[in-house]
Amino acid sequence: MKAIVIREFGGPEVLRLEDVPVPSPEGGEVLVRVMAAGVNPADTYVRAGGYIIQPSLPFIPGIDGAGVVEAVGRGVSRVRPGDRVYLGGALTGTCAEYALAPEIRVHRLPDNVTFSQGAGVPVPYVTAYHALRHRADARAGETVLVHGASGGVGTAAVQTARAMGLRVFGTAGTPAGLELAKREGAHRVFDHTAAGYTDGIMEATGGRGVDIILEMLANVNLGADLRLIALRGRVVVIGSRGEALITPRDLMARRGSVHAVMLWQITDEETTEIHAAIGAGLEVGALRPVVGKELPLAEAERAHREVMESGAYGKIVLIP
Ligand code: NAP
Repeated sequence: MKAIVIREFGGPEVLRLEDVPVPSPEGGEVLVRVMAAGVNPADTYVRAGGYIIQPSLPFIPGIDGAGVVEAVGRGVSRVRPGDRVYLGGALTGTCAEYALAPEIRVHRLPDNVTFSQGAGVPVPYVTAYHALRHRADARAGETVLVHGASGGVGTAAVQTARAMGLRVFGTAGTPAGLELAKREGAHRVFDHTAAGYTDGIMEATGGRGVDIILEMLANVNLGADLRLIALRGRVVVIGSRGEALITPRDLMARRGSVHAVMLWQITDEETTEIHAAIGAGLEVGALRPVVGKELPLAEAERAHREVMESGAYGKIVLIP
């Protein structure tokens, strides 16, 4: 099969298209014919080396994917050959024509959701739901600021928060990103490149502050976030690419709290709940993954470069 293979950690140029054998499923495993692979910032951290997840070389990259079950190993009962599925965290990477995954990581993809959309489900929607439900304990009627609402996690968070009955504010850095956040359900949008935009957010709450912030770039925003939250406000750190300077008294004055998401630490119990919620949301159309760009698998290098650039617009997806 065709697959992207990483033989050394490094920049996007280490991604090479190769022919490798198709894996075969052992007991409890599912072989999926990959129709689309989602590209996440985390894929670039893994590729660069030194990340929390460090596979041994050589390996096929790709956490997220969607496709059709090709074969199942002994004891697999939740899916069978021919089923449409999405998978997150496969045993072999999803940047390939086939990927092998434990049964627990394979989930039914409703007929109304395309494979490209399915490839945009796992990391973004699991992160969004987990952040809102398990970390922020979000309640209907509260206000959430999705700080970085134009990308994979951001669009997922806007849709999820709307479905949960929250009042949703979103930020983006381009007119297209702002339009997207609004289209996907944000009640108000703000340009995070504009001077003084946080004043606009505070004004939009009547000076009270937001109840929850889902933060995609904590190293830039955490200090200001602590001044944007309401009494008992919660900041959930999802993304960060460096150190942050905070004034702890801002947090103390608001009796606020800072929480964090780490996908690789989610419990099995949380995972079961998360995918039940996502499955229902996809089925009824409340959750609609936004595919901004589809590229052929051979263009994985370009996808890894572009996912780290500003001007996000939903998901970048690779087609094997
Ligand atoms: P993405 O699709 O590349 O989107 C990045 C988002 O960050 C865009 O909305 C972008 O907006 C926004 N952004 C850029 N500058 C910003 C600023 N100054 N303030 C606020 N937002 C800003 O990435 P993603 O998949 O949504 O992931 C977002 C972050 O969360 C990444 O750092 C990723 O590694 C992390 N993440 C962490 C976990 C976890 O387990 N903790 C899970 C998933 C993702 P514009 O491009 O419009 O400026």
